[in-house]
Amino acid sequence: MFRKTIKHIIIFSCAIKLIGIICFCNLPKAYAKFDQKRMYITNIAIPTGMAALRAHYEGTSITKAIIQSIFGGYIMQESMKRAAKIEGKSALYAWETKVMFNLGASLCESAGLEEFTFKMDVGPVWVINKGNDIKFKLGINGVIAPVFQLADGSKFDYKQSLKYGTMVFERKTSRNGNLMGSNALAYSTANTFVTNVNGNHSGHELTHTYQYRRNCLYPIQIGDYWPEFTTKYFKEDKWVDDTGWFLNWSAQCAWASWRNKNRDYDIPLEQEAYYMERYKNSWE
Ligand SMILES: [Zn+2]
Repeated sequence: MFRKTIKHIIIFSCAIKLIGIICFCNLPKAYAKFDQKRMYITNIAIPTGMAALRAHYEGTSITKAIIQSIFGGYIMQESMKRAAKIEGKSALYAWETKVMFNLGASLCESAGLEEFTFKMDVGPVWVINKGNDIKFKLGINGVIAPVFQLADGSKFDYKQSLKYGTMVFERKTSRNGNLMGSNALAYSTANTFVTNVNGNHSGHELTHTYQYRRNCLYPIQIGDYWPEFTTKYFKEDKWVDDTGWFLNWSAQCAWASWRNKNRDYDIPLEQEAYYMERYKNSWE
């Protein structure tokens, strides 16, 4: 019931956005800009709105859910800031940041439920802890993305992967500094990212992997729209449906091509990563 209602709200809000884009042509520009206010909306306000609705449908305390989610959202926001300046930092700093972010996300997604569940992605595996019970499941995107990177000719970088707690790949660069076979300096596919051999732009790409974790808070995964995906093909007892970032990114790219925007700079997912990167020094 709760997921159904949320799905309707998301479809409704997308419809409103679409009507806005058609009627007011200046809206996409405003939508694409990222700032401090959007940081609060993305990390705190939206997860907290969801938590309040969840508490309402679960019959738990709405006030408690709101407080828990604001706290979780604040932790996510502060770890996003740490992630932006991670390149020159130690592995300990990187792991602290990752655990912090996942704790924040878990507090948000558990807000309004009876029991707290801690969920963290480590490479293709999800660690799920509820009470005394620990489960390990595979992520659908978590497994497909690294296979795709290897098939695409990228080399697994175990040193960077161990440092960041996510799967990092490397590629040689062409003369203009872009990665071979790509027109980007570095890029991410949700839970993995690719850099040059020096690991440049890891902070920006790590922001995308945190967005991937945050997108798992919402019923925007493939299985939410196509039930057989998780009941028949990737059964929930073994797999985590973590495909929300990919769907979100694909929708934003479709919007960019429709509006003649650059998908590497103008979509909200990129605007956020660039904003974090640009303002990292002011957070020292
Ligand atoms: Zn990016």
